[in-house]
Amino acid sequence: MSVGSPEHKALIERWDGFLSKIKSRYQEVLDQAADPIKEMISGLEYDSIIMHNVLNGLRHQSQGQLSQKMEETWEKVEGEFEKLGIPFETILKEQEKHHNQTEWMRDDFERFSIRIFADAARQIEKNIYAVVDPNQIHNCISCGDQLKVEVFAFQAINVKCGGCGTINTYEPDGRVRQLEGVYSSLADEFCVEEYILKNKSNQNGAPYFKKYYGFIIEKLPQRKEHYERLLNDKLSNPDFVGK
Ligand SMILES: [Zn+2]
Repeated sequence: MSVGSPEHKALIERWDGFLSKIKSRYQEVLDQAADPIKEMISGLEYDSIIMHNVLNGLRHQSQGQLSQKMEETWEKVEGEFEKLGIPFETILKEQEKHHNQTEWMRDDFERFSIRIFADAARQIEKNIYAVVDPNQIHNCISCGDQLKVEVFAFQAINVKCGGCGTINTYEPDGRVRQLEGVYSSLADEFCVEEYILKNKSNQNGAPYFKKYYGFIIEKLPQRKEHYERLLNDKLSNPDFVGK
């Protein structure tokens, strides 16, 4: 028995058929989840915490289980190739199909999951802007004069009253802080391909971090200092960007 024999061809065909069935099954699982996920997103308020559980479950059910099934099946198929006396380097080509598909599935689920969180973020952003009124009036605790405050602030700030000089502590609406989560999810979507590259090798980290933090800083200029510090930490860390 040798390379190119009818038995060899039949085995390759069976293996290819199995891989394409796994791919369709994967797609099917995600397609079935699409509507329930959409519904769940429309019911979100100011955070997307519950989406983590849903996506973890879905990852297990699709990418996780199907990768495992491919792994198990490959072990058997490999044995069959060996029984046919197929040389090692020819068998390697078949093994590569399985590795490529495993990697494809992992990247695809990453893109899927990032898109879902970005959709959730858009919903949450809409909800926040619907309840936080930027023109809300704040008055001095002492004299009642109107204070100038930045409603979209992320931490308590001291505001000096222009009328009487009293220092008022302004505590911003807690929901405003959720905007940080919103823009980090939208930043993930904005640089999803750079993220996937970074995950393949940390040496590729710099373009990702620059684009990611750049996006958030543009959306939240009032947090510029904070995010610039995080960016510089990453860029000066050889674990993340290489030397
Ligand atoms: Zn005052």
